[in-house]
Amino acid sequence: MNQVLPKNSLLPVSQGGNIRPAATRYISVSNQKGGVGKTTTTINLSTALAATGKKVLVIDLDPQGNASTGLGVDRSSRLNDSYGVLFGECDIDQAAVPTKVPNLFVIPASIHLSGAEIELVDAKQREFRLKTALEKSETQYDYVMFDCPPSLNLLTLNALVASTGVLVPLQCEFFALEGLSHLVNTIERVRGSFNPHLELMGVVLTMYDKRNNLSNQVAENVRAHFGDKVYEAVIPRNVRISEAPSFGLPAIVYDMKCNGSQAYIQLAKEILKREKNTQVKYGAAV
Ligand code: ADP
Ligand code: MG
Repeated sequence: MNQVLPKNSLLPVSQGGNIRPAATRYISVSNQKGGVGKTTTTINLSTALAATGKKVLVIDLDPQGNASTGLGVDRSSRLNDSYGVLFGECDIDQAAVPTKVPNLFVIPASIHLSGAEIELVDAKQREFRLKTALEKSETQYDYVMFDCPPSLNLLTLNALVASTGVLVPLQCEFFALEGLSHLVNTIERVRGSFNPHLELMGVVLTMYDKRNNLSNQVAENVRAHFGDKVYEAVIPRNVRISEAPSFGLPAIVYDMKCNGSQAYIQLAKEILKREKNTQVKYGAAV
């Protein structure tokens, strides 16, 4: 058993410590649109969280496997993969491989995953396969993040059923909100039928260009619509972010000082802060 206690876990609660490790958060990074920054957000947010000492697992559920590549796992070494986990060929602990970032692990996607959607249709307990696999894992992670494919298919559904929260990256462009009601309805339906714990965790604005009026208008619109579900941290359009995956490195490792990396670090801080506030509010720390 490979358990990691948060650093302050043995402090008395009055000093901000937990008596037992906080429960794992399972986060689906999802938006059925392609190219909005899901994978980039998964890679860099997971890295930023791992850098604070959290133990993080990324599960790549997109057959394109971009999160795996961006985290430095080359295609030839993807022996155990997310397909194998979904179909019971391997378990989570066998499939998770370390990355160059300490505390950050990934279950890669391989080409096999492209057939999974069709194979899942007739599979037993088809919506619960990922959740069941995760329940059997002996490793305690602080965060498990699912990089979802650009559709609301059975792979995404498996992620939503296994998740506690959905993080939605929204690209600051004209059609940003289009189709979002479909995602919100899907979250409601999953909550009603399969997973009462699922909630919209937050919306993160990506590829923001402050010189562009449209970017500003979209940001305003999204905030009017989703209120404080929208993170204050906004991810700017930044060339260093798009260069990093070709080196198999998260932007935060490739160039920690660039605006994009700094924005992802801010996002991680905001997520951690919101969680702390929620724990205090609901007494989860005691
Ligand atoms: P998705 O997973 O939603 O399809 P990606 O994260 O793969 O989206 O991003 C799509 C493309 O946009 C990629 O080429 C990525 O490198 C680029 N990209 C993502 N975020 C940014 C950003 N903040 N600045 C510049 N390019 C970005
Ligand atoms: Mg992607």
